[in-house]
Amino acid sequence: MLKFKTADIERQWKENMLDGRLALAVWALVGFVAHHFGKDLTITDLWRSREEAKRLNAIQKLPESRVSPHEAWRAVDFRVADFDAIELAKMQRIISDGLHYGGPRPVWYGAAHGTAPHVHLQVGHDPSFDMTKGDGA
Ligand SMILES: [Zn+2]
Repeated sequence: MLKFKTADIERQWKENMLDGRLALAVWALVGFVAHHFGKDLTITDLWRSREEAKRLNAIQKLPESRVSPHEAWRAVDFRVADFDAIELAKMQRIISDGLHYGGPRPVWYGAAHGTAPHVHLQVGHDPSFDMTKGDGA
């Protein structure tokens, strides 16, 4: 089951603005963790306003102008506390090796960054993305 840290994040999810490649990756993970671990996946951050991004940049001592992919619906964070290291490694493998895209693949950032333990998953900007054409590799 897909869960949300807050009602606002659930509302953002239901706006259906998240990059389609990333939404696919999230659903793949939801199915994987349910089937293999009997667990839920909890999204802790989805869309971010410019003001929120600036505030987080300041906390992390990054340039104020740094743009987060969260601002463009191309990133999602989820809770890692629900999984052990082996489970997280298997989840990362699903994302890194199991999903094939016409454009940039999802990037998995581990828990040791940001303001709280989480995994950050993002996809690159790719306006030409067409899932029906395969990755050409
Ligand atoms: Zn993030």
